Amino acid sequence: MSVSLNRRQLLRGQLDARPPLNPPWSSEDFSDLYSRCDACISACPEQVLRRGDGGFPQLDFSANGYSLCQQCVTACPEPVFDLQRPAFTWQAHIHGTCLAHQGVHCQSCDDACEPRAIRFRPRLGQPPLPELDMSSCTGCGACLSTCPTQAISLEVQHG
Ligand code: SF4
Ligand code: SF4
Repeated sequence: MSVSLNRRQLLRGQLDARPPLNPPWSSEDFSDLYSRCDACISACPEQVLRRGDGGFPQLDFSANGYSLCQQCVTACPEPVFDLQRPAFTWQAHIHGTCLAHQGVHCQSCDDACEPRAIRFRPRLGQPPLPELDMSSCTGCGACLSTCPTQAISLEVQHG
């Protein structure tokens, strides 16, 4: 099963959609571990963590992407984080509403992606098309807020 969250959903506050937008490297069910002290929220320099339902920390990608600086991990006094896990269980996907696929030049997402997971393939007489390198995409979400057509979503494959 694939679950997708795009920027419009995030801005609408549909943060309780599956998957839960837990902090990076955290267990999918960390409610028993977490003391709701807000240490990770205060430590995050990108301000992508906020207090969510029940006082638990939640990711909010509406303005920034996640830089994977691990300051939340360092700040947390509880055994919530495990760096042996992948930071996120989702990766970016680009949909057909991408401007380049409509013949309009756009490379906004390229500039946003620090790991260089989005490459643009040149085409003769047409705008280059974005291609995702899944082995490089960390799921940081930095590309979401830069896309003018909300053509990028984060998707999780279950099982
Ligand atoms: S989610 Fe993936 S493609 Fe988007 S900016 Fe982050 S690493 Fe790049
Ligand atoms: S920012 Fe959006 S519209 Fe522009 S190239 Fe990237 S996916 Fe396509």
